[in-house]
Amino acid sequence: MPAQDFYQVLGVTESATPEEIKKAYRRLAKKHHPDANPNNPASSDKFKQISEAHSVLSDADKRKKYDRMRKLGAFDTSPGRRGGGGTGQPRSTEDGGGFSAEGADFGDFGGLGLGDIFSSIFGRGRREEPRGESVEINLEVPFRTAVLGGKVPITLPITDSCPTCGGTGGEPGSTISTCPECKGRGTISFGQGGFAVNRPCPQCRGRGKVPATKCHTCDGVGEVQTERRVMISVPAGSDNGTKLRLKGQGAAGRPGAPAGDLLVTFQVTPERFFRRDGLDLMCEIPLNVAQAILGTRMSVRTIDGKKVVLKVPPGTQPGQRFRIKGEGVEKNGRKGDQIVAVKVTVPEKLTPEQEALIRKFAETTPTES
Ligand SMILES: [Zn+2]
Ligand SMILES: [Zn+2]
Repeated sequence: MPAQDFYQVLGVTESATPEEIKKAYRRLAKKHHPDANPNNPASSDKFKQISEAHSVLSDADKRKKYDRMRKLGAFDTSPGRRGGGGTGQPRSTEDGGGFSAEGADFGDFGGLGLGDIFSSIFGRGRREEPRGESVEINLEVPFRTAVLGGKVPITLPITDSCPTCGGTGGEPGSTISTCPECKGRGTISFGQGGFAVNRPCPQCRGRGKVPATKCHTCDGVGEVQTERRVMISVPAGSDNGTKLRLKGQGAAGRPGAPAGDLLVTFQVTPERFFRRDGLDLMCEIPLNVAQAILGTRMSVRTIDGKKVVLKVPPGTQPGQRFRIKGEGVEKNGRKGDQIVAVKVTVPEKLTPEQEALIRKFAETTPTES
């Protein structure tokens, strides 16, 4: 059956601007919203069509794909085909969210569902998302790894298909019969404000079948809690708060549905010697009074472990900074510097000989005031 033409559903032309589409959608959604039309299946069906049409046409990328398919004649563009409403059961969205029209595969729209529209517009999650949940974690990254790039292993708690029963929830060899609760449909309808919503059946967990004996490993759930080790690649130049999205590394989806994403936020652990300032790496080295006065050569380590000789000129002041070119953070083709601040230390104790020399020095130094 050809799907209803989305432009006709919203009553807009195919050259409608995003603004016009949004307006048309808001007007129609308000009019046909189930809360405003209790016990009216025609309206709820219409509402679903409107939401579906909007969800595709309001997304530039999906709209482009849709337009291409539409030009190929995959959709019924004759007016009023399903327009009267009340055309039986609303199409299930439990099939992974993709839809097809005359063999045209719309899997690209996967993950898109009415529930998303409901919750985004009306603030209610009405549909259970078949796609796996996205998992968010904070990851501690050593300072050096963040600057230079590298790998950090993590262990993620995950829900996996039970290895004993393969996800059926039944003890191997146990007879499987139709679920008495949902009569094999796998879903149960809940009435909400005169609007029927399908939810996965709690007894069979959406499978439509129940085993005579529950699997001893998973107690009939079909899933087990386990761990997965994942290597996180930390790009060079990462900083505190840098985020990474790993597609499909989140929680597993319902059978056939894609897994969620893993969202990683880096927390860079402080380093003893280096501190980051934009692309520059700041550090501090101690000099004694004599070195500051007379000048010296210091060996300074860089973030990648090299030793660089820094020439400290005579008369260097406390806090004075020296720049080592190109030894900072490298990111997007730009490279910062290493900035060395000198900290002049004053000796707390002197030998009698040192004290005599300093006194001599003081006598020859004019004092101001
Ligand atoms: Zn099992
Ligand atoms: Zn059931």
